[in-house]
Amino acid sequence: MREFSVIVLGAGGVGKSALTVRFVQDVFLETYDPTIEEAYRRVIEADGVTASLEVLDTAGAEQFTGLNEIYIKSGGGFVLVFSLTQEASLREIDNLRQQIYRIKGGDTAVPIVVVGTKLDLVSEREVSRGTIQSLVARWGLPFYETSAKRNWHVADVFEDLVRQMIARYPSD
Ligand code: GDP
Ligand code: MG
Repeated sequence: MREFSVIVLGAGGVGKSALTVRFVQDVFLETYDPTIEEAYRRVIEADGVTASLEVLDTAGAEQFTGLNEIYIKSGGGFVLVFSLTQEASLREIDNLRQQIYRIKGGDTAVPIVVVGTKLDLVSEREVSRGTIQSLVARWGLPFYETSAKRNWHVADVFEDLVRQMIARYPSD
């Protein structure tokens, strides 16, 4: 079975843990310690390929510790998470995206998916679809709007990433 390492990155409180745990355990985390960092494993099928994913849910203090660099070096694919209810969380995604390309030596084929979370919180939404669509078009990255609470489009994120990783890292 193919094995891939996936790193979930983004600002604190955007919903990284809720997204990860919804994907791995199919439950919604109402509250979760923001400082907990944990690696999960799940088998997934995409395009007829079965893959075992190790998903690292990071905890957010990385920019101060240099840990990001270690994670990015070890990661095969990246989920960049921001909250649709927090416009400021978009900036962190842009920083992370640039960090990834720099650390991966300018490899623009590195598998990345951009995720806007908390789609169910309609009245709290701060990031319009137009804003994010023009950003991801400029970045050339796939984008999904999700709700970990409602389980909307969560699997799509990881399936897209697996397809990218299969293409980027062919088996011999
Ligand atoms: P992290 O710091 O990025 O890991 O953020 P968490 O996953 O801990 O989520 C922060 C808060 O947002 C928690 O109270 C979650 O229950 C809540 N949350 C996360 N995702 C969603 C979602 O899709 N919908 C709603 N309504 N709340 C969410
Ligand atoms: Mg968390």
